[in-house]
Amino acid sequence: MADSLQPTPAANAGPVEQFDAIIIGAGISGLYQLIRLRELGLAVRVYETGSGVGGTWYWNRYPGARFDSESYTYGYSFSEELLQEWDWKEHFSGQPENERYLNYVADKFDLRRDIQFNANVAAATYDKKGNYWEVRLTDGARSRARFLITAVGILSAQNIPAFAGIESFKGESFHTSRWPKERIDFTDKRVGVIGTGATAVQLITEIAKEVGHLTVFQRTANYCAPLRNGPIDPETQARIKASYPEIFKRTRETFAGFIHDFDPRSLFEVSPEERQARFEELWAQPGFSKWLGNFRDIMSNKEANEIFGEFVRQKIRERVKDPVVAEKLVPKDHRFGTKRVPLESGYYEQFNRDNVLLVDLRQSPIERITPKGVKTSDAEYELDIIIYATGFDAVTGPLTRIDIRGEGGQSLKDKWADGPSTYLGIQSAGFPNLITLVGPHNGATFCNMPRCIEQNVEWATDCIRYMREQGFERIAASEQAEKAWTEHVNELAAGTLLSETASWFFGANIEGKKRTVLMYLGGAKAYRTKCDEVAAKGYEGFVLE
Ligand SMILES: Cc1cc2nc3c(=O)[nH]c(=O)nc-3n(C[C@H](O)[C@H](O)[C@H](O)COP(=O)(O)OP(=O)(O)OC[C@H]3O[C@@H](n4cnc5c(N)ncnc54)[C@H](O)[C@@H]3O)c2cc1C
Repeated sequence: MADSLQPTPAANAGPVEQFDAIIIGAGISGLYQLIRLRELGLAVRVYETGSGVGGTWYWNRYPGARFDSESYTYGYSFSEELLQEWDWKEHFSGQPENERYLNYVADKFDLRRDIQFNANVAAATYDKKGNYWEVRLTDGARSRARFLITAVGILSAQNIPAFAGIESFKGESFHTSRWPKERIDFTDKRVGVIGTGATAVQLITEIAKEVGHLTVFQRTANYCAPLRNGPIDPETQARIKASYPEIFKRTRETFAGFIHDFDPRSLFEVSPEERQARFEELWAQPGFSKWLGNFRDIMSNKEANEIFGEFVRQKIRERVKDPVVAEKLVPKDHRFGTKRVPLESGYYEQFNRDNVLLVDLRQSPIERITPKGVKTSDAEYELDIIIYATGFDAVTGPLTRIDIRGEGGQSLKDKWADGPSTYLGIQSAGFPNLITLVGPHNGATFCNMPRCIEQNVEWATDCIRYMREQGFERIAASEQAEKAWTEHVNELAAGTLLSETASWFFGANIEGKKRTVLMYLGGAKAYRTKCDEVAAKGYEGFVLE
C-alpha cells in the first residue's frame, strides 16, 4: 500500500523547463488557478501526482464518498455558462459525478495541455539571485518559475498510524484516500474498517450490506447527523439554475461559505419547548443545518452546546437496538461540532445488522496488525480486508511532505515544526513568490471550500496582475505581518470549544505533530474582508520589490 505522495529517488537529468508560474495540484484550486493565470498571459505548468484531475474527487473513490456541501453550492461559480450547462443529479453528489464534473471543467477550458500528470513534486528551492523557484519532481525532472503556487489541498496527505506489524497482514489493505479505480468485491469477505470519522461513516453505511462480515474499530464516537440526500428533479434543477446569483450572494455572507448560517438568537432566549421544536426542525433539514444553522451559542457556550449535544446523543440511542452498542456509539469525550460533523444516511442502523461488530478501541486498543488481521488488547479479529479510514496529516502535511526551501535554504518544514506561521495563510516570511492557496491559517480551511478557493485564487491572480503592472518581481510577507496574523489566528482559536477537543483541526490526530490551530476560525466573510483591505492598501504587510 504505497503512499504515492512520498518521493522515491530516481534521476532524470533532462533540460530544466522554464515557466512563469508552477502550480502544484490539479484539484479545484489548481484548475481554477490555471484558468486565471492563463488569462494574465502567463506560461503555466501544473504538476499533479495523480493520473487525472479532481484532487479529492480523484483520490477518494471509496464506496459512499460524497459531498457534505449542497452540490450546487460546491461547483465553481465563475462561469455562468458552466453553471447553466452542468446538471447536478443529487443534492449531495457522489464521487463519480464529482470527478466527472471536474473532468468536464478540464475539457471545457482545455486545461490538460498545461497539466503534467503522474508528476509528484518532491522539492522546491528558491534561488534568491535569479528570483525563481526550482522545482524537482520525484523522477528527478526539474523546472523553474518566478511564482510557485501550491494547490495541494488540506486533506491530501494520507495518514496511516504506525501500527506494529502493518506489513505482515496477508490479506488486502486500502487507505480510503488511495482507493483503487477497479471495483472491490466485498461479497462474503471479512472486512475491518479502522476509523469512524466522516469518511468511515460514509464507507461503512455503503459496504455493510455487501460484506460477509464487518468489524468497525472505533477510537472516537462522533456526533453524526442525517445528510438527507435526494435526487434533483427537473423542476428543482431549473429553480437552482435560475437562483445561482442568490445562492452565491448568500454563501458570500455566511460564516463558512455554506447556505446555512448561525441563528443570531441565543439558545437561552427561547423556551425549552421552542428550542426542542427548532432542534427537530434542524434535524429534519439536509446538510450542515444542524451544525452551522443552529443557535449561535451552540459553538461558544458550554451549556448551550451540552443541551444540543444531549439532543443528538438521544437521537443515536433511539436508532441503535442494543443499548450496550448504542452507548459505545454515543460520544462522551468531546462536544458537538468541535470535530468535523460526519453526515450520514443510515450509519447507526448498520450496527443493528447481524454481520456488523463494533470494537471500542478505548476499551481495548489495537496492539498490532497480524498476518491474519487486527489484534487488540483482548482479541484477534481475523480479516480478509483491512480498510484504513484513518484520515490525513491535514493542512500542513501536504506542504511539509515537499522539501520546500526558501531564502538561505530555510526549510518550511523546520520553520513550522512548532506550528505554522503565515501571513493570511497565503505566504510565510522567507519564502518569496510562494503562494499557498488554502494554506494553514487561511480562511478557506474552515469553509465550503470552493467558495473560499475562488476567493484565494482571485486574490492571488489580482496580486500577480498588480505586480506585473507595477513592475514588481518579488513579493514576500514581512516578519511583522506574519507575526501579527499568526497571533490573531491563535487568539481566535484560544478559549473556543474547538480548541478543547483533540481533532485534525489542531493536528491532534498525528502522533508527534505539534498541537496548534491549523485553521482560521474568524469566518470566511471576515477573511475575505481582510484580504480585500490588504490588497486595497497596495498589499499591506507584504514587501514588494
Ligand atoms: C472525502 C472528502 C470529502 C470532502 N467533502 C467536502 C465537502 O463536502 N465540502 C467541502 O467544502 N469540502 C470537502 N472536502 C474538502 C476537499 O478537499 C475540498 O472541497 C477540495 O476538494 C479541495 O480542493 P483543492 O484543490 O484545494 O485540494 P485537493 O482536492 O486535495 O487537490 C490537491 C491535489 O494536489 C495534489 N498534490 C499534493 N501534493 C502534491 C505534490 N507534492 N506533487 C504533485 N501533486 C500534489 C494531490 O494529488 C491532489 O490531487 C472533502 C474532502 C474529503 C477528503
